[in-house]
Amino acid sequence: MTNETLFQEAITHFPGGVSSPVRAFRAVGGTPKFFRKAWGSRFEDEEGRRYVDLCMSWGPLILGHAHPSVIDAAREAMEEGLTFGAPSRREIALARRIKQMVPFVEKMRFVSSGTEAVMSALRAARGFTKRERILKFDGCYHGHSDAMLVKAGSGLVTFGEPSSAGVPKGFADLTTVISLDDAEALERTFREIGHELAAAIIEPIPANNGLLLQDSSFLTRLRELCTQHGTVLIFDEVISGFRVAPGGAAEYLGITPDLVTYGKIIGGGMPVGLYGGRKDIMGVISPDGPVYQAGTLSGNPVAMAAGLATLERLTPNLYRDLEQKGAQWAAAFEKIPGLHVPRVGSLLWPLFQPGVKRADRVESGAIAKFNTMHGLLLKEGVYLPPSGYEVAFLSAAHGDDELAHVERAIGVVAAALK
Ligand code: PLP
Repeated sequence: MTNETLFQEAITHFPGGVSSPVRAFRAVGGTPKFFRKAWGSRFEDEEGRRYVDLCMSWGPLILGHAHPSVIDAAREAMEEGLTFGAPSRREIALARRIKQMVPFVEKMRFVSSGTEAVMSALRAARGFTKRERILKFDGCYHGHSDAMLVKAGSGLVTFGEPSSAGVPKGFADLTTVISLDDAEALERTFREIGHELAAAIIEPIPANNGLLLQDSSFLTRLRELCTQHGTVLIFDEVISGFRVAPGGAAEYLGITPDLVTYGKIIGGGMPVGLYGGRKDIMGVISPDGPVYQAGTLSGNPVAMAAGLATLERLTPNLYRDLEQKGAQWAAAFEKIPGLHVPRVGSLLWPLFQPGVKRADRVESGAIAKFNTMHGLLLKEGVYLPPSGYEVAFLSAAHGDDELAHVERAIGVVAAALK
């Protein structure tokens, strides 16, 4: 079957023909590819066309697709039962590994997605502080819970406005949104409403509106202000966790949050999220405390096994290798005239504009050029995430062969965009 045939049927079943919006290719145009199998750094669509994958399921696959150790671990767990709805040793094994890698996670709770992790961490912060307001930053994405689908209101330090239909205005009123890289707005917000803020949540390495790398002084000041005002600092490390360093962005930047949220890599390709951190804050979670949070499939044994098999393979050598590859691949992409590639390790953002730090500074012309490049690369068998606002992901499985393939494709793009 062709991608087009499948898509025509898919749109009769699913909004936009997809199970998650950015997969629909609306940003870049064309028909989404339907994939039938993947291995290492490559995958194959239903028409038998093969691609070097630079999207990698949006981040979980740091070891590559279908890594044999991850598959074996999941298979072994699966044969012992898909789900128990009761505690199992595999949760403990994964928790132990997480504590080795991220020592500030004193207590944690497994959930099934990044969205759930964030939603639950915010509830924990509210329950702990007995406050209701939340601070977030424009350009950071924290999943699709009501409190996080909010954009800045008309004035500074004001009520937020829903950024999606279906989010009640009353919910959005409790979320304040300010710009990244705006030290003045940060100071003013805490001066005016610091005492009301239950939590400040940020992607410490913002990677959902491109890669909006922040000055460390901004993040350090955020840490100080949260401490001064009794506001829970939540690092959303659903992307950066276990990717930029064993201890994620917290380790990479040398800043410790009060709570952290993980997803993606922690499940090795299975649906897992986690929130955790200071044990006094986590002490409010049910059944120890009054903040309710639960999940039928939380701590699922198959997902725990895949997560553990992944985390066990994250060695210092692997991070060194990813750093080296990141530099090589970014340099290769920068051969395209006008293309810049801000980067942290294996997270790359190809942008036709010098690096930016704020969401509203990304130029529409740069995105239009990305869209052209995306189509050209796709024809050459290179699959970038289908939006100029998304970062590209490398994995341990991206080797010299793939780089050579991508360099050839880059040559074609460079010639076409001259
Ligand atoms: N937080 C961040 C930083 C994310 O990048 C994402 C998803 O991309 C989420 C939260 C939501 O995670 P999920 O899609 O697993 O619900």
